[in-house]
Amino acid sequence: MAATRLFVESVKKGLGAFADLVMPPACLACKTPVATALSLCPDCWASLPVIGDCCCIQCGVPLPTEWQTESHCLECIRKPPPFTQSRAPYAYDGAARQIMLGFKNGRAAWSPVMARAMARMAPEWIAPGRILLPVPLHRWRLARRGYNQALLLAQQLRDMGGATLGRDWLLRIRNTRTTRGMTRSQRQRNTAGAFRVHPAAASRLRDADITLIDDVMTTGATAAACARTLLRAGARQVDVLTYARVAAVPHAPYLDMDPIWENHDQS
Ligand SMILES: [Zn+2]
Ligand SMILES: [Zn+2]
Repeated sequence: MAATRLFVESVKKGLGAFADLVMPPACLACKTPVATALSLCPDCWASLPVIGDCCCIQCGVPLPTEWQTESHCLECIRKPPPFTQSRAPYAYDGAARQIMLGFKNGRAAWSPVMARAMARMAPEWIAPGRILLPVPLHRWRLARRGYNQALLLAQQLRDMGGATLGRDWLLRIRNTRTTRGMTRSQRQRNTAGAFRVHPAAASRLRDADITLIDDVMTTGATAAACARTLLRAGARQVDVLTYARVAAVPHAPYLDMDPIWENHDQS
């Protein structure tokens, strides 16, 4: 039964990739015809939810524009994540979300477009001397999807910036559920012990400056679990670069202890 579903999904993905080759180019997000392959129509381009400079300097979550820049969000002030910084070019919404969904569902060829947007956010994080580590998929999920989308992005970023790609240096040894909608303690329990460093890579990760690569950051729990594992293995610092970032809750200014935030944190 599972094998049949796997086969049907593979055929669907194969047909999708084939259609990309023989059909006239279409907007990645809305399928409107466009002049150039792997591009967006003017409307989708204009509506991309760009995360500007006004974001938490640590976790990268968009902050209300009236906030000062160079600020932390409330969650990072209360309990800083183990990674040093995180950046994403887009919020997980609108055209960026459509691109992400297509990329996860067979459109592996979209990785150069997405990686270019990521590279612009932090060129120094993909430069020589850095180690790029894609967030690993569990082998069951890898078998179903056929590729690790984070690895495809990391390969592109390595080619653009010259960093070292640590393929399979970080392993996912336990499958985890999506952390969206969980409380902080549930998220930590869900991801605890899910990752480990490949023994053959341990010496290369010691004192290393690492850029963790993923397609989307939702709650940040997965990135935090990876960073914790890498710091325990002796890494000097871990930064996180993703294509999109979910802004899951309204981020109240940190001087104002907003009760909505309190409820979200406890529930
Ligand atoms: Zn479009
Ligand atoms: Zn933050």
